[in-house]
Amino acid sequence: MTLNDFYINTYNSLIRVINYTINSDKRIFWLYLVSSMLLAYYVYHKTKKKYSFLKYIFNKKVWLSQSSKVDYALIFINSFVKVFLLGSFVYYGLKLAYYTDEYLSHTLGLSDNNFSHFQIMFGFTITLTILKDLGTYLTHLAQHKISFLWEFHKVHHSATVLNPITQYRIHPVELIINNITATLIFGITMGVFDYLSNHPIDELEFLGVNVFSFAFLFFGANLRHSHVKLKYFNKLENIFISPFQHQIHHSNNPIHFDKNLGAKLAIWDWMFGTLVKSESVATLKFGLGKNDDINYTTIFQNLYMPFLKVSQHLTKWFKNR
Ligand SMILES: [Zn+2]
Ligand SMILES: [Zn+2]
Repeated sequence: MTLNDFYINTYNSLIRVINYTINSDKRIFWLYLVSSMLLAYYVYHKTKKKYSFLKYIFNKKVWLSQSSKVDYALIFINSFVKVFLLGSFVYYGLKLAYYTDEYLSHTLGLSDNNFSHFQIMFGFTITLTILKDLGTYLTHLAQHKISFLWEFHKVHHSATVLNPITQYRIHPVELIINNITATLIFGITMGVFDYLSNHPIDELEFLGVNVFSFAFLFFGANLRHSHVKLKYFNKLENIFISPFQHQIHHSNNPIHFDKNLGAKLAIWDWMFGTLVKSESVATLKFGLGKNDDINYTTIFQNLYMPFLKVSQHLTKWFKNR
């Protein structure tokens, strides 16, 4: 890569980050930020804070903290990584869909279903949403339980304050792993629906985004990474993960470790016994805990530590063989 290419890619990454606010499938799309503000106001009003709403939302200790600066650096670095990756993931997703369709036609014979275009769209949208959510849960569970994956996922948990950009605070290696999972699920689901349908496969959309994702993003997804303690009704928290339930996932208290791993749906946590509901938790502190936070303060540490820790695990493993 020449210096000129580097400048062009850096510029494109910057534009891509700015475009997140006008792109309806991104969590920080302006409309979701507005709806999050309204929900935050509801929490502010209910908890009867003694200071102004603006001070509550734009808390300097959150937005200008060292932890948040690492978030801002990572959203930029990851968007740079995406320039190189995104095209290939779309390509492999479509290729996988093609081979899945071919395989099914070959083994089961041509499908003679007569589903309408709407039935296929509805079926595809709901199936993809549920499978993506299950895939995200299982990948997240693996990232907490398998030591070398945990070393990379630690970067997300090393945030000691949460703001909406913390959503993008993931190590580039985790970004690649998450994209591989998403590509496999997308490719296979698309291939199955391609096989079942004579129609083009589309998702049911609202404002250019999957309807279920829109609902999730509109109803406060941004508040998951924030200090706004938005809780759902007790029973609803068995089905959907509330923002406060995700904040519990970031708790540095060992009793909350490996809990509330779900993305949109809480049913996987409920089924696998990893669900904690808001009513059982009063106060929270975020981060990895006293012994580890100190090793993940700067952007350099967050990028480099996972590789160092993985190499230490490997050395230990080889020695014990
Ligand atoms: Zn996690
Ligand atoms: Zn998180």
